[in-house]
Amino acid sequence: MQVIRITPRGYCYGVVDAMTMVRRAAQDPAMPRPIHVLGLIVHNRHAVAELDKWGVVHLDGPERLGLLEQVPSGTVIFTAHGVSPAVKERARARGLNVLDATCPDVTRTHDLIGQLVAAGSAIIYIGKKGHPEPEGAMGEAPAGRVQLVETEDDLADLKVPKGSPVAIVTQTTLSRWDTAALIDRLKTMFPEAEVHNEICLATQLRQEAAVTQADQCDLVVVVGDERSNNSNRLVQVVQEVAHRPAYLVGTVDDIDPRWLVGKKTVGVTAGSSTPSQLTRQVIEFLEAYRPDPVAVSH
Ligand code: SF4
Repeated sequence: MQVIRITPRGYCYGVVDAMTMVRRAAQDPAMPRPIHVLGLIVHNRHAVAELDKWGVVHLDGPERLGLLEQVPSGTVIFTAHGVSPAVKERARARGLNVLDATCPDVTRTHDLIGQLVAAGSAIIYIGKKGHPEPEGAMGEAPAGRVQLVETEDDLADLKVPKGSPVAIVTQTTLSRWDTAALIDRLKTMFPEAEVHNEICLATQLRQEAAVTQADQCDLVVVVGDERSNNSNRLVQVVQEVAHRPAYLVGTVDDIDPRWLVGKKTVGVTAGSSTPSQLTRQVIEFLEAYRPDPVAVSH
């Protein structure tokens, strides 16, 4: 079938830099051992498994400060999602060798939150609950100073001190379409609020390409891990903005041939944490795919 390779797709600079840092550390005999990554270096189990072969240990869990206590000694690597200052201080206090792979775009949000705290703002952070990026960013402020909003249901719980300036900040891997409705609601509640759209350029470009190029496709396959926020957002924007069917697949084995029945053109894109080789296998499979004539005729 005809395949449209949606461009840009796949690895972003933040992910490439983080993975390079882990690989180099693993290959450096002078690096204090053992080497632990606090969380998954990227939300893709294939990419993580590749690095684990070099003897790196990924610690997976909901809360970075707790995970840090599982690092016995040696080196700890912070992921591209960033960590709170409390995690950095604890790692230093424990005498661990620290490598920080926080993406510069995430660092920019951390700096922004620091400035907003200094300015006395009440901060509303639009992000995904349980994701490491909000955890790190919110840790830049005193407890309770940043309130996390994921859906409209969370708006009723917001508490803003009277007279306090309000700032709205977004997680880097959301979609502008998704956040627009929430921001509109928040602007109705707090008309003077400053809005800081922190969705990173890599995320925006991948989403815009998927929406625009989906126009020429009967369906879109997104290659990415189910835990990858930016991969899930790609599926969502194709479905909700481009109004085309879209499916998330971890590998080529997840493609269901029933999706392809009666379809001529399929678009392929990938989240910014997806190894290119997984996307290549999906493209090759789809290019070679010929619908079963018997199945189609039924
Ligand atoms: S998705 Fe954006 S914020 Fe996240 S690592 Fe990539 S460039 Fe950085």
